[in-house]
Amino acid sequence: MTAAVSTSEAAALATALPAAVAQLAGCSFSGLADDDLLVVLRLAERARRQLEALDHLLVAEVEARNLPGRYVLRGSKQLLSGLLNLSPAESGTRVRQAHQLGPRTSLTGERLAPLLPVTAAARADGSITARQVDVIIAAMARLRDARLPVEQQADAEAFLVEQAHRFDAGTLTGIARQLLDTLDPDGSLAEERTQQRRRFLSCHPNGDGMHRLTADLDTETAALAMTVLHSLASPKPSEAGERDQRTAGQRMHDAFRAVLKLALRAGDLPTSGGVPATVLITMTAEQFQTGTGLASTSYQQKLTVDQALRIADEAAISWIVHNSKGGILNYGTTRRVATDKQTLALIARDKGCAFPGCADPPEWTEKHHITPWAAGGATDLDNLCLLCDHHHDRIDTGGWRITMRDGLPWFTPPAWIDPEQRPQRNIRP
Ligand SMILES: [Zn+2]
Repeated sequence: MTAAVSTSEAAALATALPAAVAQLAGCSFSGLADDDLLVVLRLAERARRQLEALDHLLVAEVEARNLPGRYVLRGSKQLLSGLLNLSPAESGTRVRQAHQLGPRTSLTGERLAPLLPVTAAARADGSITARQVDVIIAAMARLRDARLPVEQQADAEAFLVEQAHRFDAGTLTGIARQLLDTLDPDGSLAEERTQQRRRFLSCHPNGDGMHRLTADLDTETAALAMTVLHSLASPKPSEAGERDQRTAGQRMHDAFRAVLKLALRAGDLPTSGGVPATVLITMTAEQFQTGTGLASTSYQQKLTVDQALRIADEAAISWIVHNSKGGILNYGTTRRVATDKQTLALIARDKGCAFPGCADPPEWTEKHHITPWAAGGATDLDNLCLLCDHHHDRIDTGGWRITMRDGLPWFTPPAWIDPEQRPQRNIRP
């Protein structure tokens, strides 16, 4: 039974907490013995976890009073985000944990125990972390989906909490996996239902021009993604014939970009609002003429004009040039850089990426204007060659020069690679 607290008591307790922390932070720890220092470290960690668990009680009370409703918010997640400046992901985690570990109120107003009582107790005494709780919540949701008997569910929860006292969240994930395989060996149906519910993908701007892609992929999508990305992410010969300098993560990123460009080129993306899927790029007349500054896409991503014009080499692009007040000066409709006949002729000629030593097949190549179309380069066979995404990306910056000889593209390396600058070709068997 918990005691009711008056407003003044609650305020006094809540201000005593930060006061105690400030007092501790004002101490010098240099005089402590090693063992005592580690004791303080462990006590501070325990207090941090207990403080996090206090959230569960507060969120439960906020919901019991329907405070989100009073402020015309969709739920407590939005209330926490607005009140505490939390990202949707952060407030989502806190509310999810509160729902599983906080007290519940029945429809008749009766106080009920938390859904996961053993986990809630371990959280309240500060012995397990928020990450570990996430692992336990996910595993228990699977067992509920599998309609495991209630007693077995309780045993499983007690077991996982016990393991959480000994292992970190990463190891605990593996243990939970083994437990699920044991308790629900043919749980593929339940798993499929869970996967359908949990599937998720989002792409959020980081505020520094980069974007964070986060996803929970179902098994099928993950298998597709890995098959396609891994095959595209294999190291490629660098311009100097050295090994690929990109990290594994950078190669996966570039493979992902190549897949997206392929989808765009395929021209059969579903239409949205009656307009075929296109990348809409806007830039000012001055940016277009000088080739400097930042252009923007319809998703408000900023690209250098250079990058924008390189994307514009692709098939399905609309572009708008506007003056400083936003008036439209010029626009281009979706443009195909090459006719189907020209594309077939290019495939017959180049057989894939034309860069010396690259083995990428035609499906993964883009049509590269040797003299850029923005600089007046024509869309004809003598000004086009096939390049994979990787080589398309660095042909201009890497110091290589492409020239056509007898209707074939030749690649002249920069002097730092070959002092004699002998032109090379991609000789395919
Ligand atoms: Zn290539």
